[in-house]
Amino acid sequence: MTHVEHKIDKSQARMKKPLQVMKFGGTSVGDASCIARVVEIIRTASRTCGVAVVVSAMGGVTNRLIEAAIESKCGNETGVAEIFAQLRKQHDEAVTALIHSTAERKRLQSKLHGLFAEGERLCQGTLLLRELTPRTLDAISGLGERLCAPLVAAALSEVGVASEAIEATELVVTDSYHGGAEPWFDLTRARCQDRVAPLLQAGIVPVMTGFIGATEEGVLTTLGRGGSDYSATLLGAAIDADEVVIWSDVPGLLTADPRLVAEACTISEISYREAAELAYFGAKVLHPKTLRPLMQSGIPIWIKNTFAPEELGTKITPTGPVSAGGVKALTAIRDAALITIGGPITQGGAQGVPDALARTVATAAAVRADVLLISQSSSHNDICLVIASSLAKRTVEALRHEFSPDLMHEKVEHTVFDSAVSVVTLVGQNMRAAFGTVARTFAALGQENVNIIATVQGSSDCSMSFVVPQQDVKIAVASLHRELELGSLAAADCRANGRSAIAGGSASAVWKYESEPATAD
Ligand code: ADP
Ligand code: ASP
Ligand code: MG
Repeated sequence: MTHVEHKIDKSQARMKKPLQVMKFGGTSVGDASCIARVVEIIRTASRTCGVAVVVSAMGGVTNRLIEAAIESKCGNETGVAEIFAQLRKQHDEAVTALIHSTAERKRLQSKLHGLFAEGERLCQGTLLLRELTPRTLDAISGLGERLCAPLVAAALSEVGVASEAIEATELVVTDSYHGGAEPWFDLTRARCQDRVAPLLQAGIVPVMTGFIGATEEGVLTTLGRGGSDYSATLLGAAIDADEVVIWSDVPGLLTADPRLVAEACTISEISYREAAELAYFGAKVLHPKTLRPLMQSGIPIWIKNTFAPEELGTKITPTGPVSAGGVKALTAIRDAALITIGGPITQGGAQGVPDALARTVATAAAVRADVLLISQSSSHNDICLVIASSLAKRTVEALRHEFSPDLMHEKVEHTVFDSAVSVVTLVGQNMRAAFGTVARTFAALGQENVNIIATVQGSSDCSMSFVVPQQDVKIAVASLHRELELGSLAAADCRANGRSAIAGGSASAVWKYESEPATAD
């Protein structure tokens, strides 16, 4: 490179705008007024940054689509028609409120009507056959994002921000595991470089659908419930973004789920590792796989509040802030199942089943059940594993099938499960260095009469988990949050960083404090 070329290259680099991926979840695009806020956020950012947008379905839509699919399988034609009528109305109202040019409104309405017709045809087929395959369920449940992206893109164009809706079936290449497909990064990156990069270079904001992808053959897949966060980081890594911002209905990553602990506080900065543990162990604000695509690039990720965009939110960085370590936040998976495998399967020795532990883990992996915790008693009498309860039935069936040849002559059941448990997890860097945490935890739970069914510590320096009865999860989380003073620690940290300490309860008018954590959507 000549001196002059080098100078040009450097000045181009200086002029290059930073590139942000902004992901908006269901509540952020819940209705026309929410979408108008989102448009404003994007418009403001696009003045100083390149922006690529990822959207979820409008709030509640994915749940309704799944309901329609299930009702179709049950033969409830009227129920399905009612759901589609309601979804049409929800989208039509948003189109009417947001798009004022008649021609543009007509174009958009015709696009959305085409998508609704596709959804209804899929439900008709299901009604006829009374069979709902995972592939069809993906095609139906992925419609919400496909409806939302053109709406947001049109709303952006309406205010003068050039934009284009893109279905991620064009971008995200996955395997064919419907309902929880795994993306293939290299293929996805190549597609993004071809399709998205030129738009960004031309100053056009791509509005991409979260949640969905497609196999190499073009069959639509979904990444699993809540998967739009994963789409955002995957696409962020694929287009070499400088930042990914997850816009949601909370002021950031909080010290606990605000639905369980009203005093939860915003964490100003946290490491990838800690955020990944929180997400994996139930902090719904991030899909469990969100951090994966960023591990290599180290791209920072922010969690911010669509309804209070001026607040800084939480920054997630590869190493997090320099701190002494200790518990930073806690989280819970409410609906978990404890599977116990015992009897001759695990007795070892001549009469026992060899490799019981290895076969147990491999069987769970084969049905894509993430094992949250696993323990084995040293006398080899029992293996116990904890998984999300939605996966319990298929995991137990697979385990019974796996061990059935070994137990042909046994009359008792050796694989049993209890689906009324929850997993509570404490998360923080260098937890081993935080002396006394276990004792304080046990004492606090004991004082509330919460029975600890199982516990795992030691495999990770970043988390410690307990299994408790499901009915005690709220009291367990609230009492530990108090005992470990997580709210005041986070607040002090915010103040040290010159920021206002945002208590969960005061942060956003849109929060609904529900006694039960809501399902994804
Ligand atoms: P979106 O629609 O934006 O994807 P989600 O409903 O998937 O939003 O995730 C946001 C919700 O995650 C919040 O409303 C909150 O109840 C829940 N949540 C659980 N744990 C946490 C946590 N530690 N910090 C912030 N939010 C949390
Ligand atoms: N709409 C999808 C869901 O409800 C994906 C997402 O919101 O992230 O699960
Ligand atoms: Mg979500």
